[in-house]
Amino acid sequence: MTIREKVLVIEDEKSISHFISTVLNNNGYEAMQARTGSEALSMITSHCPDLIILDLGLPDMDGLDILRQLREWSSLPVVVVSARSYEKDKVQALDLGADDYLTKPFGTDELLARVRTAIRHTRTASGNNEIAQKGTYTVGDLTIDYNKHQALVRGENVKLTLSEFRIVALLGKHAGKVLTYDFIIKELWGPRAGGDNQILRVNMANIRRKIEKNPAEPEYLFTEVGVGYRLAEEY
Ligand code: CA
Repeated sequence: MTIREKVLVIEDEKSISHFISTVLNNNGYEAMQARTGSEALSMITSHCPDLIILDLGLPDMDGLDILRQLREWSSLPVVVVSARSYEKDKVQALDLGADDYLTKPFGTDELLARVRTAIRHTRTASGNNEIAQKGTYTVGDLTIDYNKHQALVRGENVKLTLSEFRIVALLGKHAGKVLTYDFIIKELWGPRAGGDNQILRVNMANIRRKIEKNPAEPEYLFTEVGVGYRLAEEY
């Protein structure tokens, strides 16, 4: 018997909740559903889910308040569900400790990818930083060599600058997960670094030029408009 990870789906729209739960149940997870914030909070403590999918617009509570309350005592992975136009909400949710987000409408593949990544990253974080010890990260033709401080495309060193390498290295450590501009800037240039994205954007354009076949249609470094960047993840 295999262990099925429990996922609590907090969503008041029946059709969406049903869609998410069906996909999860068909793919080896055990989905539970909550329709309101107060129901969700009591289910979290009584059912101990492994992951939470959280809609931000609930009838009785703001999803961000649930996240805020939860983060006071738990690092349980949370994937937020939000409408396309609410970029500010997504950034705020990530800053409050959400692991990732799904933008409505989303499909089966995207849902499963976010769930898989969020659960796996929690495991890695709690189990002795395996990614850092491995020394390399590979996705498609791209390899990040953490020992030599190099990025390679089809075995060729693409000669990144130190800043460029640090950005790629950071995204590689969180592969599959969106990192906000603010998070990247603070990780790279310290907690007092300003919120100006300009230097980051210039660096990213240079990295894409060196790594991507066609920088306008990236295969590895994705822009999440208004939020941040995500490096592709190999499954
Ligand atoms: Ca809703």
